[in-house]
Amino acid sequence: MNDKTDKLFERIASFADAALIFSETNRFYFTGFAASDGALLVYKKGALFFTDSRYTEAACRKLGETFVRDSKTLFADLRALFDAEGIRTVALENDRLTLAEYETVKKELPAVQTDISDRLCEAVTALRMVKSPEEIEKTVAAQRIAERAFDHILPFIRPGVTEKEIALELEYFMLRNGADGLSFETIAVSGVNSSLPHGVPGDKKIESGDFITMDYGALKDGYHSDMTRTVALGHVSEKQKQIYQTVLAAQQASLAFLKDGVSGFDADKQARDVIEKAGFGAYFGHGTGHGTGVEIHEQPRLSPQSKRTLHTGNIVTVEPGIYLPGEFGVRIEDMALITEEGCVNLTACPKELIIL
Ligand code: ZN
Ligand code: ZN
Repeated sequence: MNDKTDKLFERIASFADAALIFSETNRFYFTGFAASDGALLVYKKGALFFTDSRYTEAACRKLGETFVRDSKTLFADLRALFDAEGIRTVALENDRLTLAEYETVKKELPAVQTDISDRLCEAVTALRMVKSPEEIEKTVAAQRIAERAFDHILPFIRPGVTEKEIALELEYFMLRNGADGLSFETIAVSGVNSSLPHGVPGDKKIESGDFITMDYGALKDGYHSDMTRTVALGHVSEKQKQIYQTVLAAQQASLAFLKDGVSGFDADKQARDVIEKAGFGAYFGHGTGHGTGVEIHEQPRLSPQSKRTLHTGNIVTVEPGIYLPGEFGVRIEDMALITEEGCVNLTACPKELIIL
């Protein structure tokens, strides 16, 4: 069907004759076609996309008629095809399929062996981690929309405006300026609430002396952007300044370390060491970053639990933070593209402390 499905078959050929992909995100990743219903078969001769009548015409336009089948006859078509092609083993997504779907496959395709080991998921993950030039372009386009929203929001932040109003303004601006959707629910937290890494924007009004942390992103052509900035209103204390500079130094240490071949564990450690040395290690609870793509959180992760190596073409966030309970918090997040020599920062937004 395309380069991505060909590469998937290469990766599964040693343990399966075909892969059957049901999950919406993986179907979208491999076909570029978004549909709430469908199944994708990848086998030696190519790939077939099954979907229902709501999507058939659009799918034919996008993928070409020869690749599209009606999902009403999914299992009958598969039985016939498996017989004709000698397909005996079919790999399934063990991290996505529901038990009910698995039972249906077993019942409808009694003649084939199903492979529910990690191998298909690992093959898919390996492909999804390395972004094509088009995927990079879409991610950057999404990020540019988010950056314009940042420029737009700065003059909007003033005493009396609520967290919810800031979040809504960011979201409206992105949707009004080319975003197809939001990457995730916008985080806009201020003052004592900024110590909650994933706080929900509320009716709290912004006051002078507050830190305001905004974590948000745009969705463009199926790809997610993700950025965080923390800005201050009116004035900052010495402690706020110190924490901000520590988080920024931690983020820069990790960014400077990123390149093809380094581990997700070590990339996290660069940021974590800076924060620990400054005495705030206990207040940095989450991992330093994550991949982005057709989902907002993907592999590889930058974290103490990460067992993966970063490679050219990975896009990862770098987002250390310090959160002092009952006081305030700071997080700064950029997206970076891993290259042979280092990384390209995909986030073109200032990071020095902004006091509005
Ligand atoms: Zn984020
Ligand atoms: Zn993130």
